Amino acid sequence: MISQHLTQRFQALQVNPFHAILLTAPIHSSLDQVALHLAGILHCTGPVSPCGQCSACMGMAAQTWLDHCNVSPPYKVDRVREVLHDSRYGPHQSKFLTILLHEFHLATETVANTLLKPIETPPNGVVFIITAPSLKHVLPTIRSRCLAIECPPSPIIDTNPPPTEWQSAGWVTKMASQMGPLPSIPHIRDICKQSLGDRMELAQTLFQQKIDMGLMIDKWMVEVIESIERFPDSLNQWEPVLTQLFQFRDRVRYNLNTRLCINSLLLSLAPNWCK
Ligand SMILES: [Zn+2]
Repeated sequence: MISQHLTQRFQALQVNPFHAILLTAPIHSSLDQVALHLAGILHCTGPVSPCGQCSACMGMAAQTWLDHCNVSPPYKVDRVREVLHDSRYGPHQSKFLTILLHEFHLATETVANTLLKPIETPPNGVVFIITAPSLKHVLPTIRSRCLAIECPPSPIIDTNPPPTEWQSAGWVTKMASQMGPLPSIPHIRDICKQSLGDRMELAQTLFQQKIDMGLMIDKWMVEVIESIERFPDSLNQWEPVLTQLFQFRDRVRYNLNTRLCINSLLLSLAPNWCK
């Protein structure tokens, strides 16, 4: 069950909607469910949303609600353009048309730029919901156009009362200027060219630096997707790397041994994949 406090915050948005909402929570925190919960609340027509009984709630649960659209990584510019094009007339059957962009930190800059104008002046009734692990994962140009809601680390668990650090942090969050830079993460392109020995050494260093594995894999995925967008011919070359990254991303989500994960990921990137 989603935290009561989060639900109340979302219900307030049903009355005073914002055209673009950026939800952030750490990688392991079921943010997808939270985002769908928000979309469900916006669509619900019951007395207390989400009522679970109105046609919108049922449509959302069955994933057949026409006025809700999910977009997930890997992000392709064409797909995003298509969604934007289809949304130009606004909602069909409810008050809002929600466009949920999952894990938007994995979108390339090109994709993010495609969204700038639509999220600033969307068609009537269109609400963009964007998710990411933290504000610093999202480009400032996107961030500044959104209402940012930082969810607690475990939004699924109902906490009553909410943890104090969460109360003091505030709902609507700190702006870009307060965000520190992302830790320095080596380029995956360079790692693929390294010898096995060098990679084992790098794995050791990354582990000692207590690098955030989830963040590192996300950065690499963006790097790979950008590279494929820039050089479509490189798709075959990058595909196995991308597959490995997706696989390891799941392992990290399930909290498997970090040291083992870093070692096996770096060693599994076969040499000469990326020239
Ligand atoms: Zn309902």
